[in-house]
Amino acid sequence: MSQPDFSSSLIDSAEHHRPLRESVAKLVGKFGRRYFQDAVAAGKQPVELWQALGDAGFLGVHVPEEYGGGGGGLAELNIAIEETAAQGCPLLSMVIASIVAPIINAFGSNSLKSAWLPGIANGTKRMAFGITEPNAGSNTHKIATNARRSAAGWVLNGGKYWTSAIDESDAVMVVARQADANSEGKRSALSLYVVPTDAPGITMHRIDAALKTPEKQFSVFFDNVALGPEALIGEEGAGLQQVFVGLNPERISAAAINNGIARFALSKAAAYARDRSVWSTPIGAHQGIAHPLAESYIGVQAARLLTARAAELCDRGEDAAEAANMAKFSAADASLKALDQAIQVHGGNGLSHEYGLADLWFIARLHKTAPVSREMILNYIAQHSLGLPKSY
Ligand SMILES: Cc1cc2nc3c(=O)[nH]c(=O)nc-3n(C[C@H](O)[C@H](O)[C@H](O)COP(=O)(O)OP(=O)(O)OC[C@H]3O[C@@H](n4cnc5c(N)ncnc54)[C@H](O)[C@@H]3O)c2cc1C
Repeated sequence: MSQPDFSSSLIDSAEHHRPLRESVAKLVGKFGRRYFQDAVAAGKQPVELWQALGDAGFLGVHVPEEYGGGGGGLAELNIAIEETAAQGCPLLSMVIASIVAPIINAFGSNSLKSAWLPGIANGTKRMAFGITEPNAGSNTHKIATNARRSAAGWVLNGGKYWTSAIDESDAVMVVARQADANSEGKRSALSLYVVPTDAPGITMHRIDAALKTPEKQFSVFFDNVALGPEALIGEEGAGLQQVFVGLNPERISAAAINNGIARFALSKAAAYARDRSVWSTPIGAHQGIAHPLAESYIGVQAARLLTARAAELCDRGEDAAEAANMAKFSAADASLKALDQAIQVHGGNGLSHEYGLADLWFIARLHKTAPVSREMILNYIAQHSLGLPKSY
């Protein structure tokens, strides 16, 4: 065996999942880690890869067939995202599409669906997602960005931060408070809006993030941004319930990207440990090298199982919150452990650009903090799974 066997029947439950895995891996493998690194280093987008993924239908595996997608769900998207990352090309933009497409599909009007879903499916349209605010952070109930009714629709004021890839997007899905709702005594009267990124009144400032990814992050300000009636997604004031249709998929997709990074790292580490000899045997014969890799493999496979299960629950319309949270939590930890050990196995080369490992660190590390932090996941599990009292 030349490569670790990650595609075992342990993970893939449906028969069509293996061919999907192989097709995505083959397509992305033609581009590879170096292509991705070069694009990031040059400050460019990996447009050829994005377009190839869109043309092949892999960006839209979770979009209904009537809107040009593959008609699958999170199970298929999990595979597409993981395999793309496993080839050394982790795409946060695929994670963003996992939030917005399910929300539009579930709550958007027919015209909103027709306007957005086919483009999201084939990669020609993008929509960023803005929920996080500087003064609210993990506490969505404190969101201050607000939408006030006007004769023509709504007027949006406020700001978001850490909004990813908004510079490449045609619109941003914004979670905003109803400015004129009587929310006395209510925790949240939130709504979701599709805001074109070229609307007058929007400004954005790049955040200097450590990540080595094509997607950049921005602080975004809305100063009396006029929105037409078509901007509202679903029901006014039902934004909090609606947004959760995208947040579990986001956690599952974030787990998928980390699982892919972990596989990339472990594959490289195993190959290096087999080939590299500095004494009389390959370094992989030393248990100090082999055991941490074996332990990392177990951690990654466990995270992948959780992720696949969370995707399955989501697709069945069952409560996937606990599984999605645990999948993201486990995948973040497992991938960081695997990546760190892969860097260690490579000795000094682990820190080189050439071997393509060290610069994956920040995107893997990101998912301990985002889209929901590990502490907020532990809060959720403590409260909902263990029945412990809430402290905040
Ligand atoms: C690279 C990157 C990309 C991102 N992309 C997007 C995006 O596209 N769209 C978007 O909307 N957001 C995005 N985010 C934001 C991300 O989702 C938030 O950073 C994350 O949700 C945490 O919010 P915060 O940064 O405000 O931290 P805070 O909420 O201020 O938390 C700070 C620390 O306190 C802890 N903490 C807070 N409350 C509690 C509590 N009750 N109990 C225990 N600990 C607690 C947190 O766990 C954390 O460790 C991105 C962030 C990054 C770094």
